[in-house]
Order: sequence, then structure tokens, then C-alpha cells
Amino acid sequence: MEKKLKIAIQKSGRLNDDSMKILKEAGIEFNNGLNMLKADAINFPLEVFFLRDDDIPQYVEDGIADIGIVGENVMLEKNKDIKIVDRLGFSKCRLSIAIPKNEKYKGVQDLQGKRIATSYPTIVSKYLKKNKIAAEIHEISGSVEIAPSIGLADVIVDLVSSGSTLFTNGLKEVEVILKSEAVLVANKSLTKYQLGILDKLLFRINAVKKAKNNKYILLNAPNKNLDAICKILPGMKSPTIMPLSDKGWSSVHSVVNENDFWDIIEKLKALGAQGILVVPIEKMIL
Ligand code: ATP
Ligand code: ZN
Repeated sequence: MEKKLKIAIQKSGRLNDDSMKILKEAGIEFNNGLNMLKADAINFPLEVFFLRDDDIPQYVEDGIADIGIVGENVMLEKNKDIKIVDRLGFSKCRLSIAIPKNEKYKGVQDLQGKRIATSYPTIVSKYLKKNKIAAEIHEISGSVEIAPSIGLADVIVDLVSSGSTLFTNGLKEVEVILKSEAVLVANKSLTKYQLGILDKLLFRINAVKKAKNNKYILLNAPNKNLDAICKILPGMKSPTIMPLSDKGWSSVHSVVNENDFWDIIEKLKALGAQGILVVPIEKMIL
């Protein structure tokens, strides 16, 4: 039997849903991974291990898993000899310094001599060293945000997404140390065969990511403005133009990037475009 590429993903937690989703969207189907430690893909040479996110960098370094999906924050904290092969765009958060709401903050030098509670001692001590700050790091594994109110620390360094947890604990974010998202990490000595499977997987993931950033657009345009409209809609190569039975009008099909989307729609309307339809794209291969 051909060997499979082994991927480690979080068993349960904030990364699990989106990690499974990205594999499913890449067309990879599983028998049923619920409450299991392992699942086999049925239509792709991939085996999934469900683990705690903190253990994933070590497993990938040791080659127990060949690749893994983990937050960049965890990958940097564990500081293992593995590499990032793709950024996945989900589980976005930041690792930030927060202090009690009523305290003043002028800059990192204010951390001098302070007690800092965090679950990220490696990242924090590197950051302090880089900024030439001497401070005491208290490593705690959870509920870091309560440390100042119980007198354990003056300052915390913790993950933030909306900031509401900080706010309810009387803290304010004063500095961002790291912007994090989920990354696909890989063992550094994969075989040619394993790299071949990884390439196929990356190709599929990228087709899905590109599709998410783009929309298929169809519209009716007066022929006199077709040139101007085509300039606004570059498409993958160039837009498709089909004549309508109504003389003087054409149907134009193209692909637009999400970021430019509203801007483009406004311009199209100004050029007399009508009946604009926008459709999601499932996969996009250039
Ligand atoms: P495990 O049981 O696997 O150890 P955990 O409790 O350490 O899970 P989660 O809370 O599920 O971890 O978070 C996993 C990852 O999700 C984080 O390391 C981070 O990359 C990302 N994340 C995104 N937003 C947030 C947030 N608001 N708070 C915490 N983590 C977040
Ligand atoms: Zn964890």
C-alpha cells in the first residue's frame, strides 16, 4: 500500500473547525473523525491525527506527523525546527501587552522591572531582550487576564481578538507583539514522495483560498461602453462577451477581486451596466 502523508490538527478548540473545513474544501473526504484520534482520507493519501495544538510543533519536528496546522503564536512559542509552508488566513488574533485600564502607558520602557504574566514565555522574553527591558516573567497556562486583579502580575501578554475579554477584566491593550494566523507547518526532511503529496495539497488549498478572494460577475452592458467596461474587468485573461438578442447590448462575464469589488461595481454602474449578478467561486485554478 502507498504511504500516506500524516497531518496533525487540533482535536477540539478554535482551530479545529476551520482546519477540517479547509481540507474538506480541498475535496478531501474522511470516513468520520468524530471523537477519534485518527482519521483516514478516503480519496487522498492523507491521514489526520487529532491532537492538542501545543503538541503539534513537537510531533512535526519528530516526524510523528509530517505536517500540521497550528497558530503561528504556538509555532513561535514552541520554537521547534519546523517550517511554515503556507499561511491559512483563519484564526487571526494578536499577542498583545495589556495593563490595568487606569494606568498610563508611554512605551515599552514602562515594562522595566514589572511582573508579566503570560502563557508565552519564549516569545515574551525574546521581545523583552530585543527592547532591552529587564522584567520578571510569570508563566501561567490559562486565565492570564485575571493575573493583575489577583496581584500576581502588573502586566499581561495574552492573545486578543476582539479585546472584550481584556475589557471585562479591567485591562487595556497597549502593544501588539505578534499578529498571528493559522499556518501549515512541515517537517524539514520530508521525502520526495511526501513532498509530492504536500505539493498537491498546497495546490488545492491555494485554489480554495483564491476562490474565496474572488467573485464571478455577470452583467449586461451597452455596446458603446464595452471597451471601457472591459478595462475595469480584467478577468483571468480577459472578460467573456456575448451578444444579447436585444440589439446594442452584450452580456459580460468576468472575475473580480473581493477587495476591489465595491469600487468596480460603482464604476460599472456609471458606465450603464445593468442586471449585475455576483456569484461565489468554489475553486480557482490559474
Ligand atoms: P488545546 O486544547 O488544543 O491546547 P487551546 O485551549 O490551547 O487548545 P484554543 O483556545 O482552541 O487553544 O486556541 C487555539 C488557537 O486559536 C490559538 O493558539 C490561536 O492561534 C487561535 N486564536 C484565535 N483567536 C483567539 C482568541 N481570541 N483567543 C485565543 N486564541 C485564539
Ligand atoms: Zn493549547
